Amino acid sequence: MLKLSLIAWLLCSLAWRTTPTSCHRTQPPPSVEELLASRLHSYMDLTARPCENFYQYACGNWPLQQVEQPAEIQQMAEQQIQLHQREQKEQLQPSDTLAVLDYALNRQLEQLLRRGVTNDSSTEDEQLISIQEKMHNYYRACKRLKPYNLKKYLQLLPPSNCTGWPLLSRKWSPETFSWLATIGRLRSYGLNGVLLKEEVLPRWDDASSYAINLDKPSQQETLPMGEGAIIELLLDIGQTKREANVLARQVDFFERQLHRLQDIEDDMGNMETELCYLAEIMPQLQWTAFIQELPINATGSELERPPALLIQNVPYMRALDKFLRRHKPETVCNYIMLKLLAFLKQQGPAEISRVECVASLRRAMPLAASLLIGQRFHDPNSEPLVSEIFGRLKRRFAQLLNENRLQLKQPILRVLQEKLEAMRLQLGFLQLNETSYVEDYYEPVQMGAQRFYENQLALLRLRVERNHELLTMGNQYNGNNVSYLAERELSSSLSPFFELPRNLVLVPYGFLQLPVWHRNMSELQQHAVLGFILAHEIIHGFDNHGIHYDSVGNLMGPSEEIWSSPRYNQSINCIEQHVATGSKSLSEKMADFEAMRLVYETYFGEKFSMDRKEPRDPLLPQFSQRQRFFISFAQFFCGKQQSLNAQHLEHAVDELRVLQTLANFEEFSREFGCEKRTKMQAKKKCRVW
Ligand SMILES: [Zn+2]
Repeated sequence: MLKLSLIAWLLCSLAWRTTPTSCHRTQPPPSVEELLASRLHSYMDLTARPCENFYQYACGNWPLQQVEQPAEIQQMAEQQIQLHQREQKEQLQPSDTLAVLDYALNRQLEQLLRRGVTNDSSTEDEQLISIQEKMHNYYRACKRLKPYNLKKYLQLLPPSNCTGWPLLSRKWSPETFSWLATIGRLRSYGLNGVLLKEEVLPRWDDASSYAINLDKPSQQETLPMGEGAIIELLLDIGQTKREANVLARQVDFFERQLHRLQDIEDDMGNMETELCYLAEIMPQLQWTAFIQELPINATGSELERPPALLIQNVPYMRALDKFLRRHKPETVCNYIMLKLLAFLKQQGPAEISRVECVASLRRAMPLAASLLIGQRFHDPNSEPLVSEIFGRLKRRFAQLLNENRLQLKQPILRVLQEKLEAMRLQLGFLQLNETSYVEDYYEPVQMGAQRFYENQLALLRLRVERNHELLTMGNQYNGNNVSYLAERELSSSLSPFFELPRNLVLVPYGFLQLPVWHRNMSELQQHAVLGFILAHEIIHGFDNHGIHYDSVGNLMGPSEEIWSSPRYNQSINCIEQHVATGSKSLSEKMADFEAMRLVYETYFGEKFSMDRKEPRDPLLPQFSQRQRFFISFAQFFCGKQQSLNAQHLEHAVDELRVLQTLANFEEFSREFGCEKRTKMQAKKKCRVW
């Protein structure tokens, strides 16, 4: 029952701005703190020993508490959501806290869209209506899809005007197929990291302007899809099983060979050039065909100067050309087609359900979605509180820098202080008053309520076009703009992040919702969860990548000087040993370790004297305040067991994150009285700053 009321209340609290009367209740609601306290308790497995496995102790019963949640959420809200199949239910079951947030938010957005465009007559608002109409049409078209048919994309988007897809079209002509022209065309619809990577990014030496970056795909992007996934895609577009098997074997072989090109060293390094000189550097490649397909609308003659181009991994590109010549054009084209299908499938709805159509909408129109979420569900009264926590964390970190554990020279220290000082916090991708900017952004596209595939492709193309327009815009306007991130997955995710070239911590509006955040939460709870996340992002500005960037986000940070500090090297070696057994990434481990200390000291250092005479937790008197802090922190990471193949390998599996972070922190073991040899005591504790 408690669970039921928590979820009902969660939904109501999310909707409070739009539908203040939609939730009727018979009893007075429990306070936020009361609900959170019983929730915290219900997730814990008190039979586990906190010094042996704190994750089990804090999160052991979390999965049990989630099992029936989707069914209940349906009950609580309207009954319309129809889930016929058991697997669908399982898919919808949230796997972690972010998924819980995502699900609740999608439900709210869905209700908003279903009610249709607001009839607010105040006209900020004509602009807002136009945006919402587009969103609504995308959503309606998605809902009407029956079935979701990947083949439609291929019919709308041939590899070039001169040839069709080998599997589908009689127009296929290997003689006129150009892989570079095809890659260029599909790049303009958002496909990237297939054979090549092309991005518009802030310049390394002047982050307020942009340059085209041309590179090889990342290790991750060339990981073979595997025969199974290929067969699935081929069956989706109507190939027979037998055809699919044969083709999958060919493409799989191709992919594995291609992946090996990752090993080619970049002995030439970064080169800055201009588009027209590409052909001189690599005459064997048809660059003109590639460039012509990109949406660089202003040609060289209209611009004062042509856009700058940074190119890396030229030896890879030369080897790629040779490699592709050794394979049949048909195989190359099939490979590109399959990568395109995989990409589009990921953008589309995972299934045709209302919530999934909203998820797809958020991916397709990230800026519009951010604005709407901000305007409808974000509580502006939270902003000063969040800024206050951010400010406190910065002040404490400034003290730590001043203590100069690494014994850095004064000028270097000053550069770091300046960077910290300049670091900003931004809530949401956009400000709430940027409605007209968003309307302009989406102005060129029309959404048909019957044309899902066309809508999706038009939005994908728009995003790439808008990014390329940044190349020709003036500096003043670009400086703080993060719209260039619209193509990335993080633009539609609720997860906060640190953007190095902007020296900016960005927290999406949707993240500041229960169970993560509420302005009436205790300060302890606010620090243990949001505070930790903010501290983690701040530290990213000072991790092994972060130190390469200066206060304005140029790649001119004092990294060499810092690396020459013996203490810094010792600390890095220490953390690397934890990385070997857990997370893949040194910077993530470093951010976790340092953030825990930072947020703990920020909260308890300011709050209480260190003699620990603070009161017990008022609602859960069996725990001290400090114990409650660690439990709340750990519970943000509660989730279903994840496999190591999970998408977000940057962070270790969440369980390991919690265990390693706390085992590295002496205050944790002191508070729980963990003996020297217990699992929650790292033999060697690491510290950098
Ligand atoms: Zn991180």
